[in-house]
Amino acid sequence: MFDPAKAGVPDDLCPIAVDINPMLPGDWRSMRPVVDRDKCVKCAVCWLYCPVQCIVERPAWFDVNLATCKGCGICANECPQRAITMIAEVGA
Ligand code: SF4
Ligand code: SF4
Repeated sequence: MFDPAKAGVPDDLCPIAVDINPMLPGDWRSMRPVVDRDKCVKCAVCWLYCPVQCIVERPAWFDVNLATCKGCGICANECPQRAITMIAEVGA
């Protein structure tokens, strides 16, 4: 749970701001990319195009940091191997 005091939010700030819950894109994303490890050739095109730099390199493929991925689908559109599929988030 977000603690305004620990985060250094002044007490005299607007109550709405004090009550703010800083959300990462992974909290509100409606679609998520799934990488097919067998298709990925580690060309890094997805890494190049991701606007929030959440593509991470694994030993044998490129993966997605879902905490910061906003689900825009650019990586899936740009992957030359069609190794990335966008799927709906459960409950979205
Ligand atoms: S663009 Fe596709 S093939 Fe290239 S690294 Fe990313 S997932 Fe792998
Ligand atoms: S869906 Fe968008 S934000 Fe997420 S990894 Fe792909 S390009 Fe990056």
